[in-house]
Order: sequence, then C-alpha cells, then structure tokens
Amino acid sequence: MGSVKEYFSSLGTGIASLVKGLTVTGKEFVTPKITECYPENRDQGVAAERFRAELHFVYNEDGTHRCICCSACERACPNGTITIEPKMVTTATGAKKKKLAKYFYDLGSCTFCQLCVTNCPTQAIAFDNDFEQAVFSRGKLVKQLNNRPEPAEPEPTAEEIAAAKAAEEERQRKIAAAKAAKAAKDAAAAKEGDKE
Ligand code: SF4
Ligand code: SF4
Repeated sequence: MGSVKEYFSSLGTGIASLVKGLTVTGKEFVTPKITECYPENRDQGVAAERFRAELHFVYNEDGTHRCICCSACERACPNGTITIEPKMVTTATGAKKKKLAKYFYDLGSCTFCQLCVTNCPTQAIAFDNDFEQAVFSRGKLVKQLNNRPEPAEPEPTAEEIAAAKAAEEERQRKIAAAKAAKAAKDAAAAKEGDKE
C-alpha cells in the first residue's frame, strides 16, 4: 500500500514539475525577443550609436575634409594603424603649404581605443557604427580615408595677396639685412686681422 502511495506521490510531483517547465517555455513564445537574428534581420539591425566599427573622415558641406595634416593622430596611435603621407603645395599667393596627400587606416590592427579621435585638434576623424567589415584578404582592411576628390583651392582675396606680397617683401628685407650684417662682420674681422 505504501509503494502505491509513493508511486502516485512521485507521479504528482513529476506532473507538477512538467507543468512548471512548460509554463516557463510557453512564456518564451509570447515574450518579445531580446536577441538579434543576424543576418536574417540585416535590414532592421541597428548597432548602438556609440559602437566603434571603423574610422572615417568627417567631410564639410562643401566637400572638404578637416584634416590639417598635423599627424597628431598618427603619433597618438599605439600600434601604427594610421599612416599619413603629406605633400607640399604652393598656394595662389605663392606661399608653401603642407597638405594631406594620403591618409591610410588599417582596420585590421585598430584596437578602437579612440586615442586618434580624441587627439585630433580639428575633429577631422570619427568612428561610425557600420559593423559589417568582413573581407577576404587583410590588404582590403587598409583603407585610404581621404577618398573623395578634393575641391580646388579657393581664389585668394585681394587682402590675402597684399598680405602675402608684404610678407615676401619683409622676408627679402630680412635676408638682405642679414647678408649686409654678415658682410660687415667679415670686413671688421679682416681689418682686425690686418692690424695684427
Ligand atoms: S582607435 Fe586607437 S588603434 Fe585605432 S587608429 Fe585610433 S589610435 Fe589607433
Ligand atoms: S586627422 Fe586630425 S590629428 Fe590626424 S593629421 Fe588630420 S588633423 Fe591631425
């Protein structure tokens, strides 16, 4: 008699446990999903705004970028992910100016520390949250960030031309003064030598 009672008691416990488990499972059928079904939901999937996926250049409305080629980001990067190639150009006023030729970023070695972004004085670079970056070769992870055609340099204003001319005249005057001073010094030294 005792074993029959035990049998039905165990059966009751088993059924109660089964109902409890099915209730938990059943709830999951009606609870909103909190996981992402990637890549099925590729069209609706949105990465968080602050997610750091890839470095890119910030472009102004007129199509120009903000990089002044100071190399602060290149120096700040702890693992040589950024390589900057500068070039010297002559502006319309005749002045020499250092400009950016090529800006390379190797996504394959970036640790997303953001030191480059925080050290940039002109907010020329930023991270986007485009997380789909899979490629078939490492070489494709090296990207040139200044990848848009550069607008032509704006024509200098009359004031800029006058200022450049005045600066050049001042430079020539200083060179002439320095040469004259050196010649006078050499002559004085020669005179002293003759006396001895
Ligand atoms: S996020 Fe860090 S590792 Fe990546 S390029 Fe910038 S400084 Fe270098
Ligand atoms: S991106 Fe910024 S820090 Fe880097 S070279 Fe350009 S201006 Fe300088």
